Amino acid sequence: MKIISVLGSTGSIGTQTLDVVRKNKDIQVAALTAGTNVRLLAEQIREFQPRLSCVATKELAEELKLLVADCNVKITYGMEGIIEAAVLEEVQIVVTAVVGMMGIRPTIEAIRAGKDIALANKETLVTAGHIIMPLAKEHHVRILPVDSEHSAIFQSLNGEKHAQIEKILLTASGGPFRGRTKEEMADIQVEDALKHPNWAMGRKITIDSATMVNKGLEVMEAKWLFDVELKDVCVVVHPQSVIHSMVQFVDGGIMAQLGSPDMRLPIQYALYYPDRKYLDTKRLDFFALKSMTFEAPDPVNFRGLGLAYEAAQKGGNIPTAFNAANEKAVALFLDKRIRFLEIPEIIEYAMEETAYQENPSVEEILATERAVYELIESRW
Ligand code: NDP
Repeated sequence: MKIISVLGSTGSIGTQTLDVVRKNKDIQVAALTAGTNVRLLAEQIREFQPRLSCVATKELAEELKLLVADCNVKITYGMEGIIEAAVLEEVQIVVTAVVGMMGIRPTIEAIRAGKDIALANKETLVTAGHIIMPLAKEHHVRILPVDSEHSAIFQSLNGEKHAQIEKILLTASGGPFRGRTKEEMADIQVEDALKHPNWAMGRKITIDSATMVNKGLEVMEAKWLFDVELKDVCVVVHPQSVIHSMVQFVDGGIMAQLGSPDMRLPIQYALYYPDRKYLDTKRLDFFALKSMTFEAPDPVNFRGLGLAYEAAQKGGNIPTAFNAANEKAVALFLDKRIRFLEIPEIIEYAMEETAYQENPSVEEILATERAVYELIESRW
């Protein structure tokens, strides 16, 4: 029996993780945490019977207590509650499916407590990869990627030697606006940007896919996860999303992982690694698949990716400035307070205005985040 905690259980990754648990009878859920969706969380508590659950605020915790008064579960709230869920004694794997930088502290505490991490929350590695990866090594903890591209790379590296990696080929669908010019994207509405061609995901990551910022975050995530140089992470636009990513080795050989787009596969692979188990995904039909196409990314019209490489090249707290500015800009766009093309402009402005710190601590990362938020709030 595997025992897990799911941080962010009411989100897109969280609910799909629980679907994997539901279909397998050998995973026990010790803790479930959410933000505000107490109704769904109450249903999940009834079904999975965790002993601990957590929501964002005290008021929501009171509301949840009433909804699950007949269940044997401790209800907590806020960051301390998420951390408590991440370090429960019996837990072996913590699924980090919260969105944004709030994932940093629970991930660090889970690693310190010796838990393996099924990592969906890419913002954690982007901003604190220099802290997380050495810490995981020190505590002999595995960071198991849940992001489909990184899972594909992880699977392609099975049995291979790190020193023989030549390049990581990170595939990108290109999002719903692939092929458009800036002029053609000037009037994009929130509803258009929320329609991803291949994947059903949370709102923030769907907008990040439309701007290509998501791919930029994934480049930084790959650099940390697989300990490769930035120049060796190449983005290949592949609109069909059949190849989920590839690794090129020193002999020119390339290993790839393919399949239908279904996040439950990388989630299940992380939970059972190195085993594979039956999963009812749609099987890839090569005879129905008419073609697979590939393009170079468009750096002129989609500046998010180029800015991410620039942030990663500078390093220190600049990836935090990139990420925090993006989080704020996406929230402003979702609130219909800025235009789509202002998202990269805001990121660039925040990167320029942030005072560089070489090797930021968690406190300094969080201080950079706050400073960037204030900077943006003062102008937009
Ligand atoms: P969602 O927005 O769907 O879910 C986010 C989760 O975090 C929800 O459970 C939400 O709770 C919780 N949450 C939000 N705010 C708070 C808060 N203040 N306190 C506590 N919990 C909070 O996101 P996704 O599932 O799409 O993404 C999660 C992470 O996984 C992101 O880092 C994303 O980049 C990454 N990822 C996602 C993929 C996908 O397919 N969705 C693919 C690869 C990576 P509530 O809803 O109750 O408010």
